[in-house]
Amino acid sequence: METSKQGLVVSAHSADFVWRAGGAIALYAKRGWTMTVVCLSFGERGESAKLWKQPGMTMARVKEDRRREAERAAEILGANIRFMDLGDYPLRVSDEALFQLADIYRELRPEFVLTHSQRDPYNFDHPLATHVAQEARVIAQAHGHEPDTPVLGAPPVFLFEPHQPEQCEWKPQVLLDISEVWEKKRQAFELMAAQEHLWEYYTRVALQRGAQASRNSDRKIRYAEAYQRVFPQVTEELA
Ligand SMILES: [Zn+2]
Repeated sequence: METSKQGLVVSAHSADFVWRAGGAIALYAKRGWTMTVVCLSFGERGESAKLWKQPGMTMARVKEDRRREAERAAEILGANIRFMDLGDYPLRVSDEALFQLADIYRELRPEFVLTHSQRDPYNFDHPLATHVAQEARVIAQAHGHEPDTPVLGAPPVFLFEPHQPEQCEWKPQVLLDISEVWEKKRQAFELMAAQEHLWEYYTRVALQRGAQASRNSDRKIRYAEAYQRVFPQVTEELA
């Protein structure tokens, strides 16, 4: 049986993957890849302001709402989704959770990984999520870690665009044309009722990166997502 190729997305909060990597996820899902999103938390404290304004709101209900939204968004994008429920503001990751994530790497054997920027002075959960995503990847590569299962290769890691790139010392090194799946991304992020203020913002980001993608190629690209690479690109082609 031919198994499909795998892509892994590690998201600090339950909606981060939609804004920042929804296009890449939908694009690869459309190409027949199995895309898996791991949400380290639901963003229940720090990224659910609108829900908390409702009278009588409880932590359990916020988590449940955010889970449902994220599940529906993942379905629209064509991805599988898993939740680790590690808490947010602050996110804290135990060694046990780190090993769980390493096990996910060994199980899925992703061809690439998408996660947060290395720095983010507005949000300490995001850099921790990227640290953990990268540390788990390295553990999964270690021959002495669970020696009975095959080690992971070296999937490239792409860092998604933070909300304020300049403050995060993040640069767009890869511009991915997501025009053919833009409607799916838009549909998915419109489910994020708790963060309606971001809909227009992320539409502008996609148009901006699209214009830059056109400028850096000979193609007309309307919508794009930008990524920064962690490791050098290995290639036999320069053009
Ligand atoms: Zn977040």
